[in-house]
Amino acid sequence: MRDETKCLHSGYTPKDGEPRVMPIVQSTTYVFDTTERIGDLFNLPNAHMYSRFSNPTVECVEKKLADLEGGVGAMCTSSGQAATLLSILNICSSGDSFVSTSTIYGGTVNLFSVTLKRLGIECIFVNADDDEETISAAVKENTRLVFGETLANPALAVLDIEKLARVAHKHDIPLIIDNTFATPVLCKPIEFGADIVVHSTSKYLDGHALQNGGVIIDSGKFDWTNGKFPEFTVPDESYHGIVYTETFGNMAYIIKARMQLMRDFGCYPAAHSAFLLNLGIETLPIRMKQYCENGMIVAKYLNDHPKIESVSYAGLETDKYHELARKYLPNGACGVVSFVIKGGKDSAIKFMNSLKLASKEVHVADIKTCVLHPASATHRQLTDEQLIAAGVNPGLIRFSVGLENIEDILEDISNALDCVE
Ligand SMILES: *Cc1c(COP(=O)(O)O)cnc(C)c1O
Repeated sequence: MRDETKCLHSGYTPKDGEPRVMPIVQSTTYVFDTTERIGDLFNLPNAHMYSRFSNPTVECVEKKLADLEGGVGAMCTSSGQAATLLSILNICSSGDSFVSTSTIYGGTVNLFSVTLKRLGIECIFVNADDDEETISAAVKENTRLVFGETLANPALAVLDIEKLARVAHKHDIPLIIDNTFATPVLCKPIEFGADIVVHSTSKYLDGHALQNGGVIIDSGKFDWTNGKFPEFTVPDESYHGIVYTETFGNMAYIIKARMQLMRDFGCYPAAHSAFLLNLGIETLPIRMKQYCENGMIVAKYLNDHPKIESVSYAGLETDKYHELARKYLPNGACGVVSFVIKGGKDSAIKFMNSLKLASKEVHVADIKTCVLHPASATHRQLTDEQLIAAGVNPGLIRFSVGLENIEDILEDISNALDCVE
């Protein structure tokens, strides 16, 4: 099946007489005939027993997302942040380190540089644009993984996924990619060597600003038995002595994430949220096509406007990342356009306050056009140094082009720019 078909049919196949639409199984728990049956379930990672870590409705969406990304399994979470956190904790313990590119989502910078540090896990930030040898030199003896974002929020830098995969694999460690902005429709990181993919499904995947969510997808390709990952190859005392790689083969990573971490942390989405997410995914390919088209028009308009200092949009031929975009995002560079307005922060704020159609909000990648000033919002906790490393100029505006008529969007931008000195 192709993506358009997968988005509609993967994950849920009704049998004779069953509902056409994936049902919402709104229940914390499941009933069994005998005590022995419940005992047996603890050996079966795919059995539903308690909705803190699995649920039939959520499972349908997990299967669909795994299929779209080309993975062997997936686990949904109640936010993108939870997905990123668990994807790392499933590999790293106190005393370990990992390498991450610095052009990543502001919330992730916080998680990596503050909260994980408090747990004894060190994040080594690297510049994704550096050459392979330089990035490779950052990997230490205790480094357990490499992390990056396909299309960085909000810098819109395109990641050379193959380069990072080579660095990771040379050191026998996995590559985790946050593919939120690209979605599997625009880029499938596993095809370029990523071992694990995470998403904030709150963005394009849901697409309608209805519910927060995240997902971790396992490619099933990484060899956890290479000697560097004992937690996969020695008995887990908290799970009646199971050895993940022996019992679950190429699904060891994603099953460990569920049976160990989701069981203990419980950041699992509600069935109703998964149902809404599924509705969004059904129209993802057609929406992404239109976002890319509208994004490109807005990027070109801004690029030609005398009041704009610079535009970051990988679809523009003049963009620093255009070459990488041609390889990794051949069908478009999504609907998010970042730009710096002349006159710095004051002009940025004046412009934003003059917009009438575009809503000022923290959200991004929504069906409705929305806009944000990262330096005073999502990235306000970062130091100036971190801001620059994350590609965030103090005058930067993140403009998330929606699916309204493009003429209305352009008019709104044009009117607001007229209000700026
Ligand atoms: C929003 C976002 C996240 C965090 O996701 P939440 O669902 O808000 O927790 C992570 N990564 C990227 C790239 C994002 O845009």
